[in-house]
Amino acid sequence: MKYRVFAKLVKVEPVDHETYVHTYEAPQIAQDALPGQFLHIRVTHLSTPLLRRPISILWSDSHSLVKVLFKVVRTGTALLAEKREGELVDLLGPLGTPFPYDFNRDSIMVAGGYGIAPVYYLSRLNPSNNNKRVLIYGARDASQLYLRNDLKAAFDEVNYATQDGSVGRRGLVTDPLRDLLMSRGNLAIYACGPTPMLAAVKQLVAEVAEPGTPCWLSMENQMGCGFGACQGCVVKTVDGYATTCKQGPVFDARTVVFS
Ligand SMILES: Cc1cc2nc3c(=O)[nH]c(=O)nc-3n(C[C@H](O)[C@H](O)[C@H](O)COP(=O)(O)OP(=O)(O)OC[C@H]3O[C@@H](n4cnc5c(N)ncnc54)[C@H](O)[C@@H]3O)c2cc1C
Repeated sequence: MKYRVFAKLVKVEPVDHETYVHTYEAPQIAQDALPGQFLHIRVTHLSTPLLRRPISILWSDSHSLVKVLFKVVRTGTALLAEKREGELVDLLGPLGTPFPYDFNRDSIMVAGGYGIAPVYYLSRLNPSNNNKRVLIYGARDASQLYLRNDLKAAFDEVNYATQDGSVGRRGLVTDPLRDLLMSRGNLAIYACGPTPMLAAVKQLVAEVAEPGTPCWLSMENQMGCGFGACQGCVVKTVDGYATTCKQGPVFDARTVVFS
């Protein structure tokens, strides 16, 4: 079920000068939300920008509150960053497909930049089963690694990779991922981040992981309507084109065709 609500922005937490966590009071959305799903946010009541902006759900209390983490990119996200506590914001959600979580396998969650949001939520929703939750989190530099203070509690193991070596291993997330895939078995992989990262994760899992290792990718194509009508966000799959907003954003890696 998806809802359109005018939700009260109850908390604004600046993460850095261009990144924010918003907490909205939106009971219907909070009660239905699942990790991997997103909110489609109308950032203004004016006619431009007309299109909503998709932002992953970072956390829900399953009762009334829902959080997102977003980075200011251009006009739409800049307007969202201008919202103040107490304002009503037009939300559509929860939209899209969630990550299917496999309780019988240890999970490796791979995130790039603000791609941390859905995997953080995934780890929080499925705590302390006997399966292990390992995070591999990468970015260009330390400033693009968000929520670091919260990650230790959410995961059994946290591995960082930065391209400038400022935190964790110097290089890409695929370096620690390769090591983990080669040394451990009975895994499921969940990834969210830039498209080149997702393509590399898919390829590595196919080459190195035990045959049959599930791998789920949350795709980030720009989108228009958010519910499958405009076809503005299609990704190529082995079964033809699929909409990121409705058939995704979470796809089985085996089905996605990267060009
Ligand atoms: C599923 C999903 C989850 C996301 N989660 C997060 C998150 O958790 N945190 C975060 O910071 N960012 C997230 N993003 C990225 C975020 O949506 C963009 O950064 C944001 O839309 C940029 O808006 P802008 O106005 O600032 O930038 P601009 O680049 O000015 O605007 C981008 C907008 O242009 C329109 N557009 C551009 N190309 C097309 C096209 N081909 N078809 C239709 N419309 C188009 C869309 O409305 C799009 O949202 C997510 C994106 C997706 C698809």
